[in-house]
Amino acid sequence: MRTAVDEVVDICRDLLRIDTTNTGDLATSAGERVAAEYVAAQLAEVGVDAELHESAPGRANLVARIPGSDPARPALLVHGHLDVVPAEASEWSVPPFSGELRDGFLWGRGAIDMKDFDAMVLAVVRQWQRTGVRPPRDIVLAFTADEEAGGEYGAHFLVDNHRDLLDGCTEAIGEVGGFSYTVSSDLRLYLVETAEKGINWLRLHARGRPGHGSMVHDDNAVTALAEAVARVGRHRFPIVVTPTVRAFLEEIGEVLGIEIDPDDPELAISKLGPIANLIGATIRNTANPTRLAAGYKDNVIPSRASATIDCRTLPGQAELFLEQLRDVIGPDLEIEHVTRQPALETTFDGALVDAMADALRAEDPGARPVPYMLSGGTDAKAFNRLGIRCFGFAPLRLPADLNFSALFHGIDERVPVEGLQFGVRVLDRFLRNS
Ligand SMILES: [Zn+2]
Repeated sequence: MRTAVDEVVDICRDLLRIDTTNTGDLATSAGERVAAEYVAAQLAEVGVDAELHESAPGRANLVARIPGSDPARPALLVHGHLDVVPAEASEWSVPPFSGELRDGFLWGRGAIDMKDFDAMVLAVVRQWQRTGVRPPRDIVLAFTADEEAGGEYGAHFLVDNHRDLLDGCTEAIGEVGGFSYTVSSDLRLYLVETAEKGINWLRLHARGRPGHGSMVHDDNAVTALAEAVARVGRHRFPIVVTPTVRAFLEEIGEVLGIEIDPDDPELAISKLGPIANLIGATIRNTANPTRLAAGYKDNVIPSRASATIDCRTLPGQAELFLEQLRDVIGPDLEIEHVTRQPALETTFDGALVDAMADALRAEDPGARPVPYMLSGGTDAKAFNRLGIRCFGFAPLRLPADLNFSALFHGIDERVPVEGLQFGVRVLDRFLRNS
C-alpha cells in the first residue's frame, strides 16, 4: 500500500501543474476551481466529503471535517491556500507550471507557497483514512482561494459566509512556519510563526493648482507628492521589539553564540544571512511606496497626484504608526485607507506548541523550535477574526544552503523532495498528538 510519504510528491506535482495564478484581477484568476476539485477528488477517494463554496465564479474554497475521537475537545483548523502569485516563464529555469522533478527538488510556482503543505495535508489524511486512524480532536481542513490578493474571495469569504463550517475551531496551523534554519550539522532552528505584522495599504493624495507646464508654478501636486513619497521611502521608523521577536532574538543569540542587544538588534540581524530579510522587517513598522499615479498630458500640471504605500505594522502599533507617518509626510496630503488588517501575536506555549516540538524532535533530533514574527500576512488574519489562535506551522526540513526566503514569490521556486517527505512525517505525528 502506498504511504503518505510515497504519495506526497505526486500530489504536490499534480497541484503544481494546475495553474492557479492569482493576479488580483477577478477576470484572470483561472485555476482555483480546478485545484479545489482536484483536492475534493483526492478526499472523496478515501471517503472524506468536502464542501465547495465559490465566492465568485471560479473562486473556489473547500472545507472538510475529519471527526476526532473526542468530540468534547475543540477542533483544530488546518488551512492552506491553493492560489499562487504570477510567474514570468522567461525568467525561470523550468516552465513554472511543469512540476518538474530535478536535482532532488520539485520545481514550480507554489512549490513552497504553499502547494507543498496542501499536498502534505492531503497525503496524511488519505493515509489515515486508508488505515483507520482517527485524530484525537476534530480536524477542519480548509483549502482557500485568493490568499495572494488578501483573501477577500477566500478565507475572509469563508469567515463571513460559512463560519458554521469552522465551528468549534480554537487553534489553527497554516503557512509560513515550521521550516528549518541550519545552525550546524546537529542543530537546526525551526521557525514557528506566532505573530504576523498588520497590513495597512494607504493611498496618499496631493492636490495643487492645475496649470500649463511651460509656466512658473509653485503649487504642483506632483512635486508635493514626490517629496512626501521620497521622505516615506527613506524613513526608518523606530525599533520596537515585541515579545515574539525578543524570544526569537534570545534563542538565536544563544545558539549562534553572539551578543544581541534586544533593544538595538539591527547589527546582529544583518549577520543572520538569508533570513535577515525575513527578521529585519519585524523590528519596526515599515512603509514602502509601491505605486504612483498622476497626470494625463506631458505639458499639463495636474491638480492631483497619488501614491500607494505598503505599510506593515507591529502588533499594537497601528494607531501610533499613523501618527508617525503623518509627521513624515506633513499635514497637507490626504491619507486614504485601501486595506487594513490588524497584526496578530500569540504566545509560544501550551499543548499544541508542545506537540509541534515533539513531532519535530522525533523526526530531527537536532531540531530546536523557536517562535518568530512574519512580516507579511496570511489567511491567519481572517481566521483570527473568529478568535482562533493561529500558528504558521507547515513543517519542512531544508538544505543548509538553500535561500528559502528568496523562493517565496521568487524565480525557480522549488521544494526539496526529502523536505516534503520529512514534512509529511512531522505533520502526521503532530496531528495525531494535537
Ligand atoms: Zn502563501
